[in-house]
Amino acid sequence: MGKKKKKTSTEEELSTDELGITEKKKTTKKKTIKKSSSKKTTKKKKTTKKTTKKSTSKKTKKKTTKKKLEKTDFIQSSCNVGLVGHVDHGKTTLVKALSGTWTEKYSDEINRGITIKLGYAEAAIMQCPNCNLVIAESVANNLRKSKKDQKGMCPKCGTKLNFKRRISFVDAPGHEILMATMLSGASLMDGALLLIAANEICPQPQTREHLAALGIAKIENIIIIQNKVDSVSKEKAIEHYNQIKEFVKGTIAENAPIIPTSAIFNSNIDLISQKIEEIIISPELDYDSEFLFNIARSFDVNRPGSEIDSIHGGVIGGSIITGKISVGEEIEIRPGFRSKDGKYSSIVTTVQTIYEGKNSLNSAKPGGLIAIGTKLDPSLTRTDQLIGNVAGKPSTLPEVQYTVEIEAHLLKEVLGAEEKIAVTPIIKNELIMIVVGTSLSAGMVQNIGKKNTITLKLKRPICALDGSIVAISRRIKNRFRLIGYGYLVS
Ligand code: GDP
Ligand code: ZN
Repeated sequence: MGKKKKKTSTEEELSTDELGITEKKKTTKKKTIKKSSSKKTTKKKKTTKKTTKKSTSKKTKKKTTKKKLEKTDFIQSSCNVGLVGHVDHGKTTLVKALSGTWTEKYSDEINRGITIKLGYAEAAIMQCPNCNLVIAESVANNLRKSKKDQKGMCPKCGTKLNFKRRISFVDAPGHEILMATMLSGASLMDGALLLIAANEICPQPQTREHLAALGIAKIENIIIIQNKVDSVSKEKAIEHYNQIKEFVKGTIAENAPIIPTSAIFNSNIDLISQKIEEIIISPELDYDSEFLFNIARSFDVNRPGSEIDSIHGGVIGGSIITGKISVGEEIEIRPGFRSKDGKYSSIVTTVQTIYEGKNSLNSAKPGGLIAIGTKLDPSLTRTDQLIGNVAGKPSTLPEVQYTVEIEAHLLKEVLGAEEKIAVTPIIKNELIMIVVGTSLSAGMVQNIGKKNTITLKLKRPICALDGSIVAISRRIKNRFRLIGYGYLVS
């Protein structure tokens, strides 16, 4: 269906399901409904709780105050942990085991059984003041002997756990057609769990391609999860372990620990949360640079038929790269909107709300994914229209570029396909797809200069800092495949 279109022009190519865009459009509406209805139910719950509490004992009243305090004291996630690897190797199941929540799925995704967009969840990492055990809160709660046992206790010694830090999980899609979404997700990750299922030969094509993407994005804090060990014999698991060792030799993950796991049976999940704490350290925050925000999602959170007075402005979701932002401040979004002449004009708006998950914040800093509610007309943010844009304080963002120069470095071979295909040099007039930050574009190669610097005339402009990492893909047998990386040069 979409395939015929693909061949007509690049602009259309950019919106084909090959890049995971068409599906997004189809599904966003459902999400909108889901989100707003879930909000409503939580609100409802709160009010009923309050009223019952009023009429009961003092003890319960105390609890309410405590809850409120926790809410205002909410501490933002300090890093994004990516989950990468071949489709069906257990990424979404592991996020659930670590965080206690399924990353939000769209009904299309449920039907097809694959993650289409970047999934998102978060977990509080706790530490025992007595035995120093480090563990994710929901993992500790899962390890309780009985559901009646108190939550938040150390599973080893029974002491009350202390909060250490909050982390976010970014669940990247593992299907080969969604590589562009994976690449834009990689630009947000501070570390990653590479999942490799023990019941398949290692490496599978996207295991290879995702590991290369981690290398390109310079994500060095990697933990390898040998998942589904429940489904193979001990001998097979050892053989598979050796395949992993062989596969990562000479790569960025050469010295990464390998943890055998069964995500579905919750086995060794406690060990993973400890390793995350050890290896995926929160990056140092850059408060001093200008506020820069990569947009990874955008939504209209209103339910169809909402009253005008209760309509919420457009919401942008993503990660702060540098600086901070507070409610009430103005932001500019670039490249912004396309006008009829093909030029893009930036959008200026005001931040009305900031959320991490269900928690409202007054200001936010770099770390986990957040959602910024703006004064924009929600039709402008509907169906992920603003993906790949960046937000900053007005007049501080880099110029929008319609033509880019990239110092390109090519891989030796294409990693994402079943068969071995050598990467041949990029040639003039070739169509190249690039991902810079969360932004996806494509263009024809106009020139090839010294040091393999290619000049690309883009179909969709980008707004990015000089020196930004660029993932480079080319069309091979009807699929865009990762063939290399580069840096933006001015
Ligand atoms: P993703 O595509 O990598 O996100 O994989 P999912 O988390 O959606 O899992 C794919 C399938 O594998 C689902 O049917 C899971 O129930 C199953 N699965 C996940 N983890 C395990 C595991 O540890 N053992 C077994 N046997 N199955 C698993
Ligand atoms: Zn303890």
